[in-house]
Amino acid sequence: MIRLAKYTKPFLTLILLSIVLLFVQGMAELSLPDYIGQIVNTGIQQGGIENAVPEAVRQREMDRLTLFMSTADQQQVLSKYTLVTSSSPEYQTQLAKYPALAGEPVYVLQSVTQADIDQLNPILGRAWLVVSGIERAVADPSQAQNLGGMGFDLSKLPPGTDIFAALQQLPAEQRSAMLTELNQQFAAMSEPMIVQSAAGAIRAEYAALGIDTRALQNSYIFRIGGIMLGLSLISGISAIIVGLLASQAAAGMARNLRRDVFRKVATFSNHEFDTFSVSSLITRTTNDVTQLQTLSVMLIRMVCYAPILGIGGIIKATQTNASMWWIIAIGLGALIALIAVIFSLALPKFKIIQTLVDRLNLVTREHLSGMMVVRAFNTQPFEERRFDRVNDDLTQTNLSVTRTMVLMMPAMMLIMNGLTLLIVWVGAHQVAAATMQVGDMIAFMQYALQVVFAFMMLSFMFIMVPRAAVSGDRIADVLETEVVIHDASATQQFPEPFDATVEFRDVSFRYPGAEEDALHDLNFTARPGQTTAIIGSTGSGKSTLVNLIPRFYDVTAGAILIDGVDIRAVSQHDLRAKLGYVPQRANLFSGTIESNLRYADEAAAPEVLNQAIEIAQARDFIATKPEGFATEIAQGGSNVSGGQRQRLSISRALVKQAPIYIFDDSFSALDFKTDAALRRALKQHTSQSTLIVVTQRVSTVMQAEQIIVLDQGKIVGKGTHQELMNSCEVYREIALSQLGIEEVAS
Ligand code: ADP
Ligand code: MG
Repeated sequence: MIRLAKYTKPFLTLILLSIVLLFVQGMAELSLPDYIGQIVNTGIQQGGIENAVPEAVRQREMDRLTLFMSTADQQQVLSKYTLVTSSSPEYQTQLAKYPALAGEPVYVLQSVTQADIDQLNPILGRAWLVVSGIERAVADPSQAQNLGGMGFDLSKLPPGTDIFAALQQLPAEQRSAMLTELNQQFAAMSEPMIVQSAAGAIRAEYAALGIDTRALQNSYIFRIGGIMLGLSLISGISAIIVGLLASQAAAGMARNLRRDVFRKVATFSNHEFDTFSVSSLITRTTNDVTQLQTLSVMLIRMVCYAPILGIGGIIKATQTNASMWWIIAIGLGALIALIAVIFSLALPKFKIIQTLVDRLNLVTREHLSGMMVVRAFNTQPFEERRFDRVNDDLTQTNLSVTRTMVLMMPAMMLIMNGLTLLIVWVGAHQVAAATMQVGDMIAFMQYALQVVFAFMMLSFMFIMVPRAAVSGDRIADVLETEVVIHDASATQQFPEPFDATVEFRDVSFRYPGAEEDALHDLNFTARPGQTTAIIGSTGSGKSTLVNLIPRFYDVTAGAILIDGVDIRAVSQHDLRAKLGYVPQRANLFSGTIESNLRYADEAAAPEVLNQAIEIAQARDFIATKPEGFATEIAQGGSNVSGGQRQRLSISRALVKQAPIYIFDDSFSALDFKTDAALRRALKQHTSQSTLIVVTQRVSTVMQAEQIIVLDQGKIVGKGTHQELMNSCEVYREIALSQLGIEEVAS
């Protein structure tokens, strides 16, 4: 697949843009669990109270709080608060916010920075904890022993004592000893835990101030919820755009691949067609390219996204709670093991599937194109069995792959759910031990799942990539094929004026992979104005010989020269421009008669077309068609008879008005009378051209200036009809076997 890497080049900007957007998507998605944690911790558990620094405190309460602060801390705290009394200028505005102000003075928080809050938070947080603890104990003596940990023992005080007043009376050194002890008690508690524990007290204080605490909580949850909604929207939009960009890039790459494969195949000589079967070439341009296209979309969308999500998830999870990293490690370990197993089971099958698809295409194609033969021989059952075999093979292999893959989803779900369970189990213990907040546990769970999910995406890639790699290799094989027949690096031109002499000089030829030569040491010259006929039994090498002239194959030894120039020295385009070639199997394209004729020369004048059909004896049959030149021709020319097809094929070559004509057994489907008339017209109208006529009919060659007799790839006779009748045994045998028919014809 690396071999096709250059196809990504035109789409690099699209791909880079996708990656940038994936980052945006990843960041948005990675911050969601944090916010969920905040909603649980702050929004639900702390009633929307974010820190231990309240926006307002009754003076009475503040006096209690400051009892548990060092002098320096006291000053720091009080410097951020303004005491509002009934005589203060802002009394009215603050009264609206804090109805309790009517009865007593209130400390109101000045506008402070986040840094200030961070500084005040631990100081106030601890003070809140102690004060609320004592208040609770006073209200409910049964809770008094809870305070033991804080260094108080209320039971020692006489009942009814105002503890706070008593504490206020404490001598300075005793107070500082108490503070030191308190700080030690709180050392084990993390700041968020302190804040969380203090939140209840602050909420109570807010209630005492007359603030609507429910509205406070709701506004917090709605605010965070709104942010989450926004982030989801960003992530969703990014995902959609990435999908769009990825599809565009992949579709573009697929288009370029198909175009290049098509162009490459167009340069193939028969040699390459013998290597790649036609059905395999079709699968490669369609199915294989589609595979790559699908993969490219996935690659962009998943392979780039998974690391962002995975690595980001691990970082975020350990930030949330570092002590549970091993749970993620266990999850990943289990996933890797699972993927390794499935991978080793399914991978070899993917390669087999692609080959089987090729086979299925081959069988289908053969069956459809040979439908008439199949029917004529009543071999439908045989063909059905043949098809069923390939079809079954493909189904079985597909099924076994699917069975393995089907296992994957439940196994992965099992791992994911096991992981969740483990996190809840371990997390619950930590929550109970007050070393973790519930919201953090939930966030950790989400991060762990994101990491696992990222890994799952990657694992799908592991399965998709080898499969597409097979396709990629098959396409690259086509694209990288060295075409055996290619133009010389410095092409020559044919001399002007052009003399259409075709010379075979010691030509031998062997089909690629064949055991022996199909043509041996051929020497002859075909001259302009003359007909050179090539006659011989089937399989003697006649088609092979003429196929060498347009360079459908290159000679193995010797050389073919046209006007003294080796045909390998000129460009294939120049060479073929000189040739009018009529293949043994007339091949028409879907369209009209006219479009088929104009295939030789788009701009041919109407007279040229008329003359061509005149010579090819096609005029009469075209005239019988109501639509004449505009008559539709079906695919492959299947709606005209074999003889008509041949005559159209000959007309097409004649429209080209080439200096050299090659007819490969092109008159075989014509009746003798038409054959004779055609040859006469041909002789008359193409008197300047070199005619090379392959045939098995003696009548066709009798008038030829030169007859070449081929037998098993060798020239066994060369000369005119009369000369050969006298000198060549093979020719005489052929001639005598046809003599009777000839007399009738001439
Ligand atoms: P003719 O046209 O005289 O009937 P051909 O030139 O088609 O004969 O074939 C000559 C010989 O070359 C035959 O023995 C045939 O089996 C062999 N042959 C033809 N085409 C191929 C090919 N593509 N690959 C290998 N051998 C071939
Ligand atoms: Mg032939």
